[in-house]
Amino acid sequence: MKVYNYGKQYIDKDDCKAVLETLKSPYLTCGPKVQEFEKAICKYTGAKYCVAVNSATSGLHIAMLAAGVGVGDEIITSPMTFLASANCARLAGATVKFADVLPKTANIDPNEIKKHLTKKTKAIVPVHFTGQSCDMEAIQKIAKKAKQKIYIIEDAAHAIGSKYKNSQVGSCKYSDMTVFSFHPVKTITTGEGGAVTTNDEKLYKKLLAYRSHGMHHTQDWCYDMIELGLNYRMTDIQAALGISQLKKLNKFKKRRREIVAYYNKNLGLKHLEEETFSNACFHLYPVLVKNRKEFYHKAKKAGLNLQIHYIPVHLQPYYRQFGYKAGNYPNAEEFYAHCISLPLYYDLTNADLKEIVRRIKNIL
Ligand SMILES: *Cc1c(COP(=O)(O)O)cnc(C)c1O
Repeated sequence: MKVYNYGKQYIDKDDCKAVLETLKSPYLTCGPKVQEFEKAICKYTGAKYCVAVNSATSGLHIAMLAAGVGVGDEIITSPMTFLASANCARLAGATVKFADVLPKTANIDPNEIKKHLTKKTKAIVPVHFTGQSCDMEAIQKIAKKAKQKIYIIEDAAHAIGSKYKNSQVGSCKYSDMTVFSFHPVKTITTGEGGAVTTNDEKLYKKLLAYRSHGMHHTQDWCYDMIELGLNYRMTDIQAALGISQLKKLNKFKKRRREIVAYYNKNLGLKHLEEETFSNACFHLYPVLVKNRKEFYHKAKKAGLNLQIHYIPVHLQPYYRQFGYKAGNYPNAEEFYAHCISLPLYYDLTNADLKEIVRRIKNIL
């Protein structure tokens, strides 16, 4: 029996060739491929600057540091996300507030953000869940109304290739910075990896420094360490894979949207809806089922390795110590109680889709 996972990378001969060439080149890191990858991301997204890093988690962390988020500050993010969207703020010393999601998309609800704004709010981290963009115009309006500067840092780990209105996610038209992930389950991969885009030169320079020990190069061998930075650099081997993967992104997007449309039409299960402002490169396809635990185990027996995205972050033991508990974010908790992500990846054939739908209908 063919086994299907909820997600899978797609690596072809060109990817292998690109990696091998770089492996034999003089630079394995800090070389030309990283810059070439960054330029390619700028070209694709329309952003002015890009800083490639070794994961989206690192990218979110240095985005926090570049925005000056620290002790005494608050950030607002979605509870329906991967841990890193919130952890980055804790790593920078800040307090994490959550704002509940919209049932239609499981994306952060701008009206809920308003309720959690305080004088201490320093950043909003909207997460483009499943690849569908949040309502960025609404979020930008809220941030601009505040007396203090509130940074908007998009967690676009799911959303490379997606569009919001007429702009590519990552263009930073409605935000200060956008963070992508290139982990193998995401739409394009570099093994591990991530990138931060921005249009702000000052933020760009800070991101560059934080990525590499806080060093600012002056000339020749001279450098000044101004901030306390880390080593969050991406290798040229990873960047070479990223350049090659990025060339296939539009093809990936087309197929991913076809698969989502097929499931929507043929499964008869409750699913998220796409907003009119969105043109998503879908990363995940969650459906809502009555008895999720039973469904999960039956699916496993039927050769479908599905996954739950996500346990709401505020319910994690680490976040409960700050007083969060069940009932705080009812929409996120209701979604979590029933959600399960079905297989969604580029090389699923039409025959695979038919087979997956057949197996699911069998276990319902
Ligand atoms: C995967 C993911 C991350 C972390 O990405 P890494 O590259 O694995 O560090 C952050 N946020 C969200 C929403 C994710 O799905």
